[in-house]
Amino acid sequence: MVKSAETFSDTSSGLFDRARAVIPGGVNSPVRAFGSVGGTPIYVRRGFGSKIETVEGRHLTDFCCSWGPLILGHAYPEIVRAVSETAGSGLSFGINHPDEVRLAELLCRAFPSMEQVRLVNSGTEATMTALRLARGFTGRDKILKFEGCYHGHSDSLLINAGSGILTAGIAGSKGVPAATAKDTLVAPWNNLSAVQQITDAYKNEIAAIIAEPVAGNMGLVLPEPGFLEGLRACCNKIGAVLIFDEVITGFRFTWGGYQSICGVQPDITCLGKIIGGGMPIGAVGGCRKILECLSPLGGVYQAGTLSGNPVAVKAGITTLEILARINPYAELAGLVSEAAERISRAGGNRICVSRFGSAFTVFFSRGPVTDLASAKKSDTQRYGKFFHAMLDSGFYLPPAQFETAFISAVHTFSELDSFARAAEIWFSAE
Ligand SMILES: *Cc1c(COP(=O)(O)O)cnc(C)c1O
Repeated sequence: MVKSAETFSDTSSGLFDRARAVIPGGVNSPVRAFGSVGGTPIYVRRGFGSKIETVEGRHLTDFCCSWGPLILGHAYPEIVRAVSETAGSGLSFGINHPDEVRLAELLCRAFPSMEQVRLVNSGTEATMTALRLARGFTGRDKILKFEGCYHGHSDSLLINAGSGILTAGIAGSKGVPAATAKDTLVAPWNNLSAVQQITDAYKNEIAAIIAEPVAGNMGLVLPEPGFLEGLRACCNKIGAVLIFDEVITGFRFTWGGYQSICGVQPDITCLGKIIGGGMPIGAVGGCRKILECLSPLGGVYQAGTLSGNPVAVKAGITTLEILARINPYAELAGLVSEAAERISRAGGNRICVSRFGSAFTVFFSRGPVTDLASAKKSDTQRYGKFFHAMLDSGFYLPPAQFETAFISAVHTFSELDSFARAAEIWFSAE
C-alpha cells in the first residue's frame, strides 16, 4: 500500500521532513528555515490578533508579524470581511477596476513626493522597477546601495544585501552575472563621506542611490542625523535619482512614510508589506516626470498579470483606512520603548537594543550599532539561545539576529510586559 502524506504526523518536525523532500531546504523563503538559530522551524495553522497557533496547538505572541505587513495583527475582522466580499466578486480580472484607482489616490495623498504610483505584486518587483525607471530616466547604468540594506532579490540588488543573504553569510548570490554586479556600487550605511567619494568618482554613471530610510534588514539601524539629507544632496549634485525603499517603513511609523518624519523627499518611493495588509502587493511611485517614463507612456517596460489584484488592493485600502482612523503609532512606540528599556537594563552592556516606533532589534553586542560592520559584531549564537528561550516562553521573534521585530496595533501592554519579564528572567539566569 502506498502511504499518503497524511499518515506523517502533522507536527512541525513531521511537516518539515515532508517539506524538505519537495521544497528546497523545506522553505519558500530562506530565513524561515531557522538556519541561524538552529532547531526545527515552526508550522502555523492559524493566526488571530497578536497570536499565532502552531500545528501543535501552542499559542505564541507574534513579534515577526509576517516580517512587517501585519500592523493590525492577524485576521483583523474588518479586513477579513472586506477581503471575503471582494473575493466573492472575482479574484482577478486583468482589467482596470475602481479600487486600484482609490488605492493609488490614497498612496499619492499619503506621500507628498508621489504624484503617480504603479502597483506591482511584491517589494522585489517594486525595487526592480524603480531601478529600471531610474536607469531609463537618466540613461545611466550604475546604482549605489548600502551594505546590509535589503531590497528584494532582483539581480542588481543582491550585492552585499541584508536579511536572508546576510544570515547565509555570503556577500552576494551565485547566479548574478558579473556584468550586472559591476554596476552595483556599495557604500557602508551611515557613511556619507564614502557616498560622496563614490558619487564624485562615478558622477556621470550613477543612475540612482537606493536606501531603506531606516535600515531594517541588518536588524534595525537608524540613519544618523544628516545622512539621508546628505544622500539627497549627492543625488542633486550628480543628477541621480534618490530611491527610498519604504517597503518596511511605509505606514509602519506614521501614516505615510519615514520621508515625512525625516523631511527628505526621494524621487522614487518603493512600497510593499503594510500596503497589502497581508496580501501580496508592492508599489513604485514618484514624481510624474519619472513615472511617466513607464510603458505605455514611455519606453521603460513593466507589466504584471496580477498587478493591482482586487483582493490584495482591497486588503491594502482597508488596512490604510483603519490606520488613518485609529492612528496607533504613538501608543505602539510607547509599548516598544518601555519593553526595550527593561530588556536593555536586564541585558546590560552585552546587548544593545535598537528601536523606533513599533520596531526593535535586540543586538547581542555592546553597540552602538550604526552600520553592517557593527551589526555583525553581534553574538549570533547567543541570539539563537535567546530566540529559543523566548519561543519556549511563548514569544515568536524573527528567527535571525539581523532582522527586525515588530508589534501590531492589537499587541497589548500585558503581552509586552510578559515579554520583557521573560527576557529579564533569561538574562538574570544566563
Ligand atoms: C521585504 C523587503 C523587500 C522585498 O519585498 P518582498 O515583498 O519580500 O519581495 C524590499 N525591500 C525591503 C526594505 C524589504 O524589507
